[in-house]
Amino acid sequence: MLRFTALEKSSNRAPVPVNSPSSKVSDYYGVNVFDKEKMHKHLSKEVYKQVIEATNTGQRIDRKFAELVAAAMKSWAISMGATHYTHWFQPLTGTTAEKHDAFFDLSDDGRAIETFSSSALVQQEPDASSFPNGGIRNTFEARGYTAWDPSSPAFIMEGVSGKTLCIPTIFVSYTGETLDYKAPLLKALHALNQAAVPVCQYFDKNVSTVYSTLGIEQEYFLVDIDLFNARPDLEMTGRTLFGATAAKGQQLEDHYFGSIPSRVQSFMVELEIESLKLGIPLKTRHNEVAPSQFECAPIYEDINLAVDHNSLLMDLMEKISRKHHFKVLLHEKPYAGINGSGKHNNWSLSTSTGKNLLSPGNSPKSNLQFLTFFVNTIKAVHEHADLMRASIASASNDHRLGANEAPPAIMSIFLGGQLSAVLDEIEKAVKDKKMTPEEKTALKLNIGKIPEILLDNTDRNRTSPFAFTGNKFEFRAVGSSANCGHAMTVLNTIVADQLKKFHSEVEGLIKKGMKSDEAILKVLRKYIVESKNIRFEGNGYGDEWKKEAKKRGLNNITTTPVSLDAFVSKKTMQVFGENNIFNHRELEARHEIMLETYIKKIQIESRVMTNVATNHIIPAAIKYQHLLVKNVEGLMGIKMPKETYAAQVELIKEISSHLAIIKKNCDDMVLARKKANAIVDLRARAIAYCDKVKSYFDIIRYNVDKLELIVDDESWPLPKYREMVTIR
Ligand code: ADP
Ligand code: MG
Repeated sequence: MLRFTALEKSSNRAPVPVNSPSSKVSDYYGVNVFDKEKMHKHLSKEVYKQVIEATNTGQRIDRKFAELVAAAMKSWAISMGATHYTHWFQPLTGTTAEKHDAFFDLSDDGRAIETFSSSALVQQEPDASSFPNGGIRNTFEARGYTAWDPSSPAFIMEGVSGKTLCIPTIFVSYTGETLDYKAPLLKALHALNQAAVPVCQYFDKNVSTVYSTLGIEQEYFLVDIDLFNARPDLEMTGRTLFGATAAKGQQLEDHYFGSIPSRVQSFMVELEIESLKLGIPLKTRHNEVAPSQFECAPIYEDINLAVDHNSLLMDLMEKISRKHHFKVLLHEKPYAGINGSGKHNNWSLSTSTGKNLLSPGNSPKSNLQFLTFFVNTIKAVHEHADLMRASIASASNDHRLGANEAPPAIMSIFLGGQLSAVLDEIEKAVKDKKMTPEEKTALKLNIGKIPEILLDNTDRNRTSPFAFTGNKFEFRAVGSSANCGHAMTVLNTIVADQLKKFHSEVEGLIKKGMKSDEAILKVLRKYIVESKNIRFEGNGYGDEWKKEAKKRGLNNITTTPVSLDAFVSKKTMQVFGENNIFNHRELEARHEIMLETYIKKIQIESRVMTNVATNHIIPAAIKYQHLLVKNVEGLMGIKMPKETYAAQVELIKEISSHLAIIKKNCDDMVLARKKANAIVDLRARAIAYCDKVKSYFDIIRYNVDKLELIVDDESWPLPKYREMVTIR
């Protein structure tokens, strides 16, 4: 049986040895990247300056310079052994897309030549209609194009046979609608820079740009490839739809930070080497809470790069895991009953002068600057909590949120006791009337103390979806398989919008004759009061919080189809529209795509569930039941007393009862699916899939898992949880 062959193979594996290019990372870090150093070497001074400027400002590169960059890129790539090039982009499928072209062409007289023109660098035309595009396909021209993003350096991907030059690009329709994750993120960063610089100028006139930084902690599971291949549910849906909980799961908590199995370590080493060669600054690796769950994290980078790097990392994990006879599981909940995986987004703001705006400084003035960005972020998240929730919504993340292992679906912010006290202090101290000089001094003193306060601020709250961790916010609710560009577009847009409003309110007060510091404090105080409801320091996993949140008027939207409403609300349309991120049609298109993706995911799960139950589980149970029947018949044949086969009869009955329930519910689920499919309105169909189709999953699974516990181990067709989560 497949299960036993797979088990045998998986338990006899030796770690795959990995050769490191050098024991010093500095010897090979970024060798596969056309980075500043290589550009400097391959480009004239003038062209180099242009490219760097474009990188920093997001401006377009002049065509004639692009020609020179293309030539330099080509000669570098060919010298590295690359034969092909591709525009590398992040369509709304959730994976990355590539279409390779050879550097090769034919000259007029038929000779083979190596070419790569600026037009091939700057723009390509993949068929937009083959990628998710929502209504855009019908309303607009079907064609789309990819356009070079000079702010993310080109890199070389090493395949098993051959190397390819990859050029990070955005993906847009011919009429200009964005069709990917990168283009909106770049727009949001532009808006953020424009909004944040004037605010920084209150504190430091030297600041000319503000950018976001992001450090992404990536959680994942590894499972032996043969065991994976023996589980059709895992293969088709990324998660196990069945599986009785192993007697020993994560209750002893002996996996977290434990020693890393050597097969896994080999995988990690190779992943790190390949990542570092691509300029992904991976730094941390460790075991996670659940058995066979791990985490890796890079050093934070400029957000556009960090998001590209995370996409690239997920791709590398997939390829490298196979080499080590593993399959990496990036799904948010591959196994029921043990923790799922997330992707903590550590986010902050940084200035051209090298200051982290969410890190308090050593003067009252820089602390006021810190407070300004801190409070504005809180206010933005409070204002757009539903949109933040929607930004992490997916069929797979629904399993995590609120499941007592990940933050709940309620958006709240954790500040830590000390900073909460500082905000409370400001709320009390800043008066509506003019403050006395003594009051001002007292307040300044308090603000001046923030860095000391933070130094011994050790409180950590793992249950908050959005937590302040000393010098950055950590958006913890993002799913492990997500493209972070999505949630980060939302966060950066709402913060940009908020900073614009803040600036205009402060300007208003200054015009009325108020000093800037006092005006800033006054507006901050107003925001502190207005956004108080979203601050929560307690246990986010408890039921108490659900009750308390309800009282506070905070939403707890537990399912994706409904939470996605926030993407097309009036408020969202306005904030995205006014900041030039998405127009109405783009938002509606995205909303449509997300609903469609949700429906398809549940539909596939539902089909796989029926297939596996019908073709794998039921036959196995019947075979075992038949064995029992034969046994009972035999015992009766030799006239044994009833007690000798009473247990067998009991088991026969139990099996029949589970089989009946499974069969009935699978049949009913098919009918429910048919009904749902007939619903024309996409949102209503998604809700039907959530409430009327998915609702069968639990009962079918419950009965299958019961059978797993009854049926002879020898005839159970699927690898069991215990077998999958144990890495030998
Ligand atoms: P943990 O949350 O597990 O304690 P760390 O504090 O080491 O982990 O940081 C997690 C991630 O946060 C890392 O990727 C780190 O580089 C990143 N990080 C640290 N400072 C910043 C910052 N200013 N902006 C964005 N990310 C940051
Ligand atoms: Mg963290």
